[in-house]
Amino acid sequence: MASVDSQVTQPETPEQMKCWLCAQSFDAGQGRLHGKKFPCGLCSNAHRTMRRNLGGYPEEMQNFTPEEISDFFRTLHSKKPAGGGLNWQTMKAVMCTNIATRQIEQAKDKVKGEWLPASVWETRGWTKETIERQDNRWSNEYNAQVYRIRITSETWAQIHERITESLLRQERDATKKRGKEAEDLDVPMASVPKDDKDKKGQVAAAKKQERENEKIHALAARAVGAWTKILGQCEKMADKVHSAGAMPAETKQTYDELTAKLQKNMTAARQAINSFEQNKGKPVEDMAALAELPFQSADVKTVTQQSGVILKEVRKAFPKAAPKRKAQEVPANQEAQPKRRRTGKSNP
Ligand SMILES: [Zn+2]
Repeated sequence: MASVDSQVTQPETPEQMKCWLCAQSFDAGQGRLHGKKFPCGLCSNAHRTMRRNLGGYPEEMQNFTPEEISDFFRTLHSKKPAGGGLNWQTMKAVMCTNIATRQIEQAKDKVKGEWLPASVWETRGWTKETIERQDNRWSNEYNAQVYRIRITSETWAQIHERITESLLRQERDATKKRGKEAEDLDVPMASVPKDDKDKKGQVAAAKKQERENEKIHALAARAVGAWTKILGQCEKMADKVHSAGAMPAETKQTYDELTAKLQKNMTAARQAINSFEQNKGKPVEDMAALAELPFQSADVKTVTQQSGVILKEVRKAFPKAAPKRKAQEVPANQEAQPKRRRTGKSNP
């Protein structure tokens, strides 16, 4: 009976679903639909493990393109031992390799490193000791010492080590954060005397602010890392954009809006980094609260992508290089003469 029923009610092949993480096709039964997203079994587990251990994707993967993310999950599939699950160590090793490969690819475009404050480099995984050994100078813009790290000078082993360290740090931070959240929930407010309670309340508030500051600083550092070069490009072409008569008004306006947005965001981000630096070494209660940034985490990627499109448009709209002079010199009513030397000789 069952076989008859199934022949009637079920399609011949099970429904195929595409996993939103690894972008491979699976039978619907090999995963579970969450809202509109279908992760396959392995990706679903991996995604959860990453959230549990790191609180999400590692910082270095947050600017990955969708293709790079799928690549990562497909690599995880290929590393899964037959008949067993993926362990966290293997996942980290894959992360490390993919991040390193990407950074090397990107470094090919960046022979000259950017000048950035130490705290920005730290969020990108360099240790204080390494940063302090690099070229550095004072920057009025950041009101801090800025450093330049030439990414291409690192060997593969060094890159690997740096990323492994960074992943470990993020893992520790995530663990600490989970602990702190549990701790906050545990404070037995009702049972402590009032004075203590106030004090505890203040300390808790200060600690909360400190975490908030860390979040704002991390976002500011990411933004500065992503936008410094782009803003530089925008500012460099300002004169050309505004003097180019042929530039469509719409392109000009989009450019102006982008530049203004980047300037506003970068000013706020630099201020946040400065305040964060100034808080260093102070007791928690004396730390100044960092101002909210005028952009959010997702904007770092979005604005970066927008900039790419807008700047390409602007460059396309620049007037073409002036045509060759020789052609211009020939009067309109006269035929262009191919060889001047010959003409000179034949006219006495
Ligand atoms: Zn998948």
